[in-house]
Amino acid sequence: MTAAWDRPAPELAAETRPNVAGMGLEALRALVAELGESAFRAAQIHHGLYQQRWTRWEQFSSLSVSLRARLQAATRLQWPELCDSIGSQDGATKHAFRMEDGSLVEGVHMPYSDRVTLCLSSQVGCAMGCTFCATGLMGIKRNLAAFEIAGQVVTMLGAHGHAETEPVNLVFMGMGEPLHNLDQVMAAFALLTDPKGMALSPRRITLSTSGLVSGIQRLAAYPRRPRLALSLNATTDAYRDRIMPVNKAWNLAALAAALKAFPLERGERITLEYVLLQGVTDSLEDGRRLATFAKQFPSKVNLIPFNPHEGSGFAPPSEQRIEELCALLAARGLTVSVRRSRGQDVAGACGQLVRRKPQG
Ligand code: SAH
Ligand code: SF4
Repeated sequence: MTAAWDRPAPELAAETRPNVAGMGLEALRALVAELGESAFRAAQIHHGLYQQRWTRWEQFSSLSVSLRARLQAATRLQWPELCDSIGSQDGATKHAFRMEDGSLVEGVHMPYSDRVTLCLSSQVGCAMGCTFCATGLMGIKRNLAAFEIAGQVVTMLGAHGHAETEPVNLVFMGMGEPLHNLDQVMAAFALLTDPKGMALSPRRITLSTSGLVSGIQRLAAYPRRPRLALSLNATTDAYRDRIMPVNKAWNLAALAAALKAFPLERGERITLEYVLLQGVTDSLEDGRRLATFAKQFPSKVNLIPFNPHEGSGFAPPSEQRIEELCALLAARGLTVSVRRSRGQDVAGACGQLVRRKPQG
């Protein structure tokens, strides 16, 4: 007998087992074929993954114990890991997810009486560099893969318990610029809306962009796509240039042209998000220009009082100004809502939870 120390100790194993989380039916068919199983098993796994949203092989009661054991040995089933959650007084919960490479992103779960809304991240960090945004200050680390995007939904619905009949709204308003990662965002959209899978309604999914016109044009070409929201945030090129660098590539006129050309379904409207920064974007003049911009295509306006974060140098508007702007826009026939930032007491603004944690 040789002693254990006479042989070299094992090295860190490179993970080669495929991750089943996020696999579509075709990939599952190939997987079960390799295990010598019939295609029917792939459909059962698909059903378990996306309709039951099971996250451990033990839960797949439709499969035999021996097949579960073989799947366990040959594959991984790993959605993004929930590593931190903070509940807010208003019912929202802010979650931090750790990806396999240690990257952290965040998502928010917001329950309402008639639905639940989940705010999702599309990238680790963001390349767009908006000066008021905590994520913008981090810079870009990488794109999220489709399963890491869809996985935020699976994980949050699982953590909060979710009745199948309760509608789910998704907004891509967490970290990242979704049009800068359109391929993976649309692959996640396909997974999430697959009628044989999670079957979420495409009409309840909204993609928010800072105004990447090339991406808006690409999105317009998809026959099935999420709804579009634009973060307008300023009403003159001089101010928009200052707070959103993307405006130097596509200014307000280029944006308006892209939105006018965007093919809308009957009744569909483009949401214009408008962050109110005191003394920068919240004048009554801004309100009038915002109304003029919004009238160029079917739209609705969502005013977002700035959610302060350390070192931003911006402040939220007064309550009185919010009301004045609402009245001004409504008087011009626009549909207007105010987003009272949920989870503000738990660092609810985009990118703030993750910024407090060291990046892996
Ligand atoms: N990158 C995309 C989606 C993520 S940001 C986009 O910019 O649209 C989602 C929304 O949060 C945007 O409308 C953005 O303008 C807004 N936002 C970012 N930081 C904010 C803050 N500190 N307070 C209020 N809104 C903020
Ligand atoms: Fe990126 Fe949106 Fe933040 Fe701008 S506002 S830096 S586009 S996440």
